[in-house]
Amino acid sequence: MIGAKLVCLECGQTNRVPCDRLGQGPKCGICGAGLMPGRAVDVDPGVLGRAARGDEVPLVVDFWAPWCGPCRRMAPEYNRVAADLRGRVRFVKLDTEAHPEVASRQGIRGVPTLMLYRGGQAIARQSGMMPAAGIRAWIDRALEAGAGDGAAAAATLRGASDRSRSA
Ligand SMILES: [Zn+2]
Repeated sequence: MIGAKLVCLECGQTNRVPCDRLGQGPKCGICGAGLMPGRAVDVDPGVLGRAARGDEVPLVVDFWAPWCGPCRRMAPEYNRVAADLRGRVRFVKLDTEAHPEVASRQGIRGVPTLMLYRGGQAIARQSGMMPAAGIRAWIDRALEAGAGDGAAAAATLRGASDRSRSA
């Protein structure tokens, strides 16, 4: 691969970043925002949709709400994982109170709910407050299950009866 496509989380422009530069603080060619900020970035539904479909780096979304205590407690934990995985995975947040239509389209029934996108598909989903170690373990498991092949990972997770993972 020559480079990974990343949608700028600020302006929504698609950038192509050489894979060996992902960990070196790449910036958007249009607006100059950091493409791998190492923290969770608030996004609107338009940017979220473009990033979820187009990103060639795994994308984690935290569907949260301002009134939700567990969501607020999870926020620093989520940011810690975002810092740990800087250059490998991107982390965004979507406010489901401000954008209820997105939550209902995604079938989000409770907050916080995390979704992991890879290769344009949602490959994992987890509801409930988790500490940083739990979030990290969930991401690692989901990415291992689909190592190198997002479509296969999605297919694996879709087969509800197939719980066999190489653990
Ligand atoms: Zn930008």
